[in-house]
Amino acid sequence: VPINLNLFVEQIVERFQMSTKNEDIQIKHKLPNNKDFIINGDRDKLTQLLDNILSNAVKYSPEGGTINCVLKEEKDRVVISIKDEGVGIPKENIQHVFDRFYRVDKARSRNLGGTGLGLAIAKEIVLAHGGSIWVSSDWGKGTTISFSLPYDEAVKEDEDI
Ligand code: ATP
Ligand code: MG
Repeated sequence: VPINLNLFVEQIVERFQMSTKNEDIQIKHKLPNNKDFIINGDRDKLTQLLDNILSNAVKYSPEGGTINCVLKEEKDRVVISIKDEGVGIPKENIQHVFDRFYRVDKARSRNLGGTGLGLAIAKEIVLAHGGSIWVSSDWGKGTTISFSLPYDEAVKEDEDI
Protein backbone atom coordinates (compact mmCIF):
# COMPACT_ATOMS: atom_id res chain seq x y z
CA VAL A 1 0.00 0.00 0.00
CA PRO A 2 1.42 3.44 -0.86
CA ILE A 3 2.12 5.50 2.24
CA ASN A 4 2.99 9.17 2.38
CA LEU A 5 5.86 9.02 4.88
CA ASN A 6 5.77 12.73 5.64
CA LEU A 7 2.14 12.58 6.77
CA PHE A 8 2.74 9.25 8.45
CA VAL A 9 5.61 10.52 10.62
CA GLU A 10 3.66 13.66 11.44
CA GLN A 11 0.64 11.65 12.61
CA ILE A 12 2.65 9.32 14.80
CA VAL A 13 4.63 12.16 16.37
CA GLU A 14 1.37 14.00 17.10
CA ARG A 15 -0.03 10.91 18.79
CA PHE A 16 3.08 10.67 20.98
CA GLN A 17 2.82 14.37 21.79
CA MET A 18 -0.71 13.75 23.05
CA SER A 19 0.28 10.72 25.11
CA THR A 20 3.17 12.55 26.81
CA LYS A 21 1.44 15.85 27.39
CA ASN A 22 1.52 15.28 31.16
CA GLU A 23 5.26 14.62 31.10
CA ASP A 24 7.99 17.20 30.78
CA ILE A 25 9.18 15.90 27.42
CA GLN A 26 9.05 17.73 24.10
CA ILE A 27 8.68 15.85 20.84
CA LYS A 28 9.48 17.73 17.65
CA HIS A 29 9.58 16.79 14.02
CA LYS A 30 11.30 18.19 10.98
CA LEU A 31 10.14 17.21 7.51
CA PRO A 32 11.29 18.27 4.04
CA ASN A 33 9.56 21.46 2.92
CA ASN A 34 8.27 20.68 -0.51
CA LYS A 35 8.84 17.02 -1.11
CA ASP A 36 6.67 14.14 0.01
CA PHE A 37 8.10 10.65 0.07
CA ILE A 38 5.82 7.80 -0.93
CA ILE A 39 6.79 4.27 -0.02
CA ASN A 40 5.10 0.96 -0.60
CA GLY A 41 4.87 -0.67 2.78
CA ASP A 42 2.90 -2.29 5.54
CA ARG A 43 1.21 0.49 7.50
CA ASP A 44 0.75 -1.56 10.69
CA LYS A 45 4.35 -2.74 10.70
CA LEU A 46 5.70 0.75 10.05
CA THR A 47 3.53 2.07 12.86
CA GLN A 48 5.01 -0.52 15.18
CA LEU A 49 8.50 0.39 14.00
CA LEU A 50 8.09 4.06 14.90
CA ASP A 51 6.21 3.21 18.10
CA ASN A 52 9.03 0.98 19.32
CA ILE A 53 11.73 3.58 18.66
CA LEU A 54 9.74 6.54 19.97
CA SER A 55 8.63 4.71 23.10
CA ASN A 56 12.27 3.98 23.92
CA ALA A 57 13.15 7.63 23.36
CA VAL A 58 10.38 8.66 25.77
CA LYS A 59 11.23 5.92 28.29
CA TYR A 60 14.92 6.80 28.45
CA SER A 61 14.51 10.59 28.29
CA PRO A 62 15.13 12.75 31.33
CA GLU A 63 12.65 15.30 32.58
CA GLY A 64 12.83 18.35 30.34
CA GLY A 65 14.28 16.34 27.49
CA THR A 66 13.59 16.96 23.83
CA ILE A 67 13.09 14.29 21.19
CA ASN A 68 13.73 15.23 17.57
CA CYS A 69 12.34 13.25 14.64
CA VAL A 70 13.90 14.17 11.33
CA LEU A 71 12.96 12.89 7.89
CA LYS A 72 15.33 13.59 5.03
CA GLU A 73 16.65 12.24 1.78
CA GLU A 74 20.07 10.63 1.60
CA LYS A 75 21.50 8.85 -1.42
CA ASP A 76 18.13 7.97 -2.98
CA ARG A 77 16.77 6.72 0.31
CA VAL A 78 14.62 8.35 2.90
CA VAL A 79 16.21 8.42 6.32
CA ILE A 80 14.26 8.89 9.52
CA SER A 81 16.15 9.57 12.72
CA ILE A 82 14.87 9.83 16.27
CA LYS A 83 17.21 11.62 18.58
CA ASP A 84 16.82 11.88 22.34
CA GLU A 85 18.70 13.51 25.19
CA GLY A 86 18.47 10.50 27.44
CA VAL A 87 20.86 8.28 29.35
CA GLY A 88 22.56 7.02 26.22
CA ILE A 89 24.01 3.58 25.61
CA PRO A 90 27.56 2.62 26.62
CA LYS A 91 29.83 1.95 23.63
CA GLU A 92 30.33 -1.72 24.47
CA ASN A 93 26.57 -2.35 24.50
CA ILE A 94 25.63 -0.59 21.28
CA GLN A 95 26.28 -3.57 19.02
CA HIS A 96 23.78 -5.69 20.98
CA VAL A 97 20.73 -3.45 21.21
CA PHE A 98 19.07 -5.04 18.19
CA ASP A 99 19.43 -8.55 19.68
CA ARG A 100 16.31 -10.25 20.98
CA PHE A 101 15.78 -9.88 24.73
CA TYR A 102 18.88 -7.73 25.11
CA ARG A 103 18.66 -4.90 27.64
CA VAL A 104 21.51 -2.67 28.75
CA ASP A 105 22.15 -2.83 32.46
CA LYS A 106 19.12 -4.60 33.88
CA ALA A 107 19.43 -2.68 37.14
CA ARG A 108 19.22 0.67 35.41
CA SER A 109 16.14 -0.14 33.38
CA ARG A 110 14.42 -2.43 35.87
CA ASN A 111 11.97 0.26 36.92
CA LEU A 112 11.28 1.19 33.34
CA GLY A 113 10.10 -2.27 32.35
CA GLY A 114 10.31 -3.99 29.00
CA THR A 115 11.33 -7.28 27.49
CA GLY A 116 14.16 -6.23 25.21
CA LEU A 117 12.24 -7.04 22.04
CA GLY A 118 11.35 -3.56 20.79
CA LEU A 119 14.47 -2.91 18.74
CA ALA A 120 14.78 -6.50 17.51
CA ILE A 121 11.28 -6.18 16.05
CA ALA A 122 12.12 -2.73 14.68
CA LYS A 123 15.10 -4.17 12.85
CA GLU A 124 13.04 -7.02 11.41
CA ILE A 125 10.49 -4.54 10.05
CA VAL A 126 13.12 -2.29 8.50
CA LEU A 127 14.85 -5.25 6.82
CA ALA A 128 11.51 -6.53 5.50
CA HIS A 129 11.07 -3.14 3.81
CA GLY A 130 14.50 -3.28 2.21
CA GLY A 131 16.11 -0.77 4.53
CA SER A 132 18.74 -0.66 7.23
CA ILE A 133 18.82 0.59 10.82
CA TRP A 134 21.64 1.87 13.01
CA VAL A 135 22.29 3.58 16.30
CA SER A 136 24.68 6.20 17.50
CA SER A 137 24.84 7.11 21.14
CA ASP A 138 26.87 9.03 23.65
CA TRP A 139 26.76 7.60 27.14
CA GLY A 140 25.04 10.18 29.31
CA LYS A 141 24.23 12.53 26.44
CA GLY A 142 21.66 10.82 24.29
CA THR A 143 20.85 8.36 21.57
CA THR A 144 19.94 8.57 17.92
CA ILE A 145 18.24 5.66 16.18
CA SER A 146 18.11 6.04 12.40
CA PHE A 147 16.73 3.93 9.62
CA SER A 148 16.70 4.22 5.87
CA LEU A 149 14.03 3.00 3.49
CA PRO A 150 13.89 2.85 -0.29
CA TYR A 151 11.04 5.04 -1.58
CA ASP A 152 8.91 4.70 -4.67
CA GLU A 153 8.15 8.27 -5.44
CA ALA A 154 9.07 11.76 -4.32
CA VAL A 155 6.21 14.14 -4.95
CA LYS A 156 7.20 17.75 -5.33
CA GLU A 157 4.69 20.18 -4.00
CA ASP A 158 4.22 23.18 -6.20
CA GLU A 159 6.16 26.11 -4.82
CA ASP A 160 4.04 28.66 -6.68
CA ILE A 161 0.84 29.85 -5.15
P1 ATP B 1 10.66 -3.49 25.08
O1 ATP B 1 10.91 -2.56 23.94
O2 ATP B 1 10.55 -4.91 24.63
O3 ATP B 1 9.57 -3.03 25.96
P2 ATP B 1 13.22 -2.53 25.91
O4 ATP B 1 12.80 -1.13 25.61
O5 ATP B 1 14.08 -2.74 27.11
O6 ATP B 1 11.97 -3.47 26.03
P3 ATP B 1 14.45 -2.54 23.28
O7 ATP B 1 13.48 -1.52 22.84
O8 ATP B 1 14.73 -3.68 22.35
O9 ATP B 1 14.01 -3.17 24.67
O10 ATP B 1 15.84 -1.85 23.61
C1 ATP B 1 16.94 -2.66 24.02
C2 ATP B 1 17.77 -1.93 25.06
O11 ATP B 1 18.48 -0.87 24.42
C3 ATP B 1 16.96 -1.25 26.15
O12 ATP B 1 16.71 -2.12 27.24
C4 ATP B 1 17.87 -0.11 26.57
O13 ATP B 1 18.84 -0.58 27.49
C5 ATP B 1 18.59 0.25 25.29
N1 ATP B 1 17.95 1.41 24.61
C6 ATP B 1 17.08 1.37 23.56
N2 ATP B 1 16.72 2.61 23.17
C7 ATP B 1 17.36 3.46 23.99
C8 ATP B 1 17.39 4.89 24.12
N3 ATP B 1 16.68 5.68 23.30
N4 ATP B 1 18.19 5.43 25.08
C9 ATP B 1 18.90 4.63 25.90
N5 ATP B 1 18.92 3.29 25.87
C10 ATP B 1 18.15 2.69 24.92
MG1 MG C 1 11.73 -0.69 23.84
